[in-house]
Amino acid sequence: MTDYRTLRVALLGAGAVGSQVADLLLRHGDELADRAGAKLELAGIAVRNLDAKREADLPRELFTTDAETLIVGSDIVIELMGGIEPARTQVLHAIASGADVVTANKALLATHGSEVFEAADQVGAEVYYEAAAAGAIPIIRPLRDSLAGDRVVRIMGIVNGTTNYILDRMDTEGADFADVLAQAQALGYAEADPTADVEGYDAAQKAAILASLAFHTTVPLDAVHREGITSVDAAMIESARHAGYVIKLLAVCERLAAEDGGTESISVRVYPALVDRAHPLASVHGANNAVFVQAEAAGDLMFYGAGAGGVQTASAVLGDVVSAARRHIAGGVGVGESTRANLPAVPIGRVITRYQITLEVDDRPGVLATVAGILSEGRVSIATVEQTVIEADENTQTGGSARLVIGTHKAREQDLSETVERLAASGVVERVVSVLRVEGN
Ligand code: NAP
Repeated sequence: MTDYRTLRVALLGAGAVGSQVADLLLRHGDELADRAGAKLELAGIAVRNLDAKREADLPRELFTTDAETLIVGSDIVIELMGGIEPARTQVLHAIASGADVVTANKALLATHGSEVFEAADQVGAEVYYEAAAAGAIPIIRPLRDSLAGDRVVRIMGIVNGTTNYILDRMDTEGADFADVLAQAQALGYAEADPTADVEGYDAAQKAAILASLAFHTTVPLDAVHREGITSVDAAMIESARHAGYVIKLLAVCERLAAEDGGTESISVRVYPALVDRAHPLASVHGANNAVFVQAEAAGDLMFYGAGAGGVQTASAVLGDVVSAARRHIAGGVGVGESTRANLPAVPIGRVITRYQITLEVDDRPGVLATVAGILSEGRVSIATVEQTVIEADENTQTGGSARLVIGTHKAREQDLSETVERLAASGVVERVVSVLRVEGN
């Protein structure tokens, strides 16, 4: 075997991902050394509980509860503990002590990314995080390197496997949200506390990371508009299907043209949206993830695969470890985060998209004209209308209730929401059943 220089690797965390990273590092050490140009020596694994059962058979003597000491003298520190603290402190400690950092921690990067990147910049260290946005799917390097010469216009991502699994089962089985969530929990696809997934927090963290990279801008988490999928019911899924759509929880990162002599801006949002069944994102099933990128020169690109899973995510982490090792051998300062564009993020009210509005209305003459009038006054133009009688007087076939499904042309979110409020108060609308954005063209 070639006589490589040895790099000391510290691993923080040996849970679902960390135990697989350690296992692969130990089993494929020679191969990884050939690719990295350096021997990667796993110096130790920091955990909370030395006696916890691990998903891989790892040498007991590698384990420690003293992360701080393990970090000192390491060339590469892999942070796979998750959460903000003590991950943040240990990552900053690793950078300060001269190591490059590899992490999969979206929560840390979405909330303290600037602090971590600035600390790394100051000492010429590098932070790698390929696994933080879409698990095993390579998307960070494509955005950071491959598309560095292009201008990304829009990203639409299915970046949360749990919610895609739930929505997909609701779509294929006509089942209700609560039933599918319970099954997903029993099968281990959803956590006992599913809030981070079903309320869109996890997707919002990933959206902040993707938008920051795509638009060379620091995007704080509170600039991401977030809605979860808990209000999506079987009737909405069926109505979407009827109109040729499927409902997906999307992370949308969009570059908006300059208005009134101002600068370009961006919109970053997470919500359940209608996607045309012919769109590539509509065929992302089960717990899979996909990121659809539209760039000015490259056109449409789609990245698809496993967004989570211990061993799958370990693949992305080890790719980063090899990159970090190569940089250590080659020398030179890190690339650093590109945030020079610093485009402002606009509030959701300024977003322009299409909508599907479903209303229950009185089924009597003139109602459709009233609804159309309110939409037109609110600068919301109608593209399609479908009316179904849901309760009718047996003799006149009117006088009951009807369901109106209105597809709009592009409208501004603020105009749309004010118009929906006026519809709700109009006296002819019995109930606003749902308002969904249509994304994908
Ligand atoms: P996990 O299964 O909960 O494992 C966490 C590990 O960190 C455990 O080994 C735990 O030790 C250790 N740990 C936690 N707090 C610690 C502390 N204070 N000091 C020392 N060790 C500590 O987490 P995971 O699923 O592997 O996820 C790790 C990271 O990868 C997270 O940032 C997550 O968001 C990200 N990620 C995960 C996936 C996935 O599919 N799981 C996919 C993409 C990204 P003990 O074992 O002793 O408790």
